Amino acid sequence: MSRFGPGICGRGRATSLVARRYDNGVPLSPEEFYRNALRDADVDRRMSLSRMTGWEIFPFEPEGLRVVPLAAPVLPEPARYGEGSLSCRNCSAGDSGVIWSNDRWRLTVFDQPSGAPLVVMLTPHDHYDLVDLPDDLASELGMLIVHVARAIESLSHVARAHVSRWGDGGAHLHVFFFARPEGFIQLRGTCLAIWDDLLAAVPRNVRDGDAREVAVTLAKSFGGRFEAPTRDE
Ligand SMILES: [Zn+2]
Repeated sequence: MSRFGPGICGRGRATSLVARRYDNGVPLSPEEFYRNALRDADVDRRMSLSRMTGWEIFPFEPEGLRVVPLAAPVLPEPARYGEGSLSCRNCSAGDSGVIWSNDRWRLTVFDQPSGAPLVVMLTPHDHYDLVDLPDDLASELGMLIVHVARAIESLSHVARAHVSRWGDGGAHLHVFFFARPEGFIQLRGTCLAIWDDLLAAVPRNVRDGDAREVAVTLAKSFGGRFEAPTRDE
């Protein structure tokens, strides 16, 4: 298995082209990256399914599936929420869904439960993206990730806490934690974020009970305050 998942290796031509570029110290421009990626695409700019559908954790059967055409790069990229004229959803969220906080960070649950037993989001109170965090907050983030993951994995029915930061939708740092249920090895790895959307939502009272237990555990181990979540309803 590669470090990205089972069966993701094997793009010989593309890899060799990239290696040649970087050997010369010249990174691929967006247009060059696009042309390079299309080397493995069909005339409609669609990639093969052959790699991902080989993963034992892939949630779809290959029959009837096809990859969407690869879109050309968009430059400059559109603004994210919290950039330019777009307001920040995190700064305007108030206390909605907050289950734990200290003076610098808050941990929230979403209004609606989803397929994973628990999904929580860690954000700083102040408007920073990941790469903008001052060192003191960056240090605290590292410790908090460990303590939040430890609290989630202390739930008896949870095998793993998956940690993700993408940041392509909003400019205010938000780190996701997905609880992977015990025994469901088919839900291992990156595809849990997809399964979370496919599975029936867990009952709200069950989700809220898990959230409360995680928040209480976190407050005991790291400090801060357990919060009874409020909702904008
Ligand atoms: Zn913000």
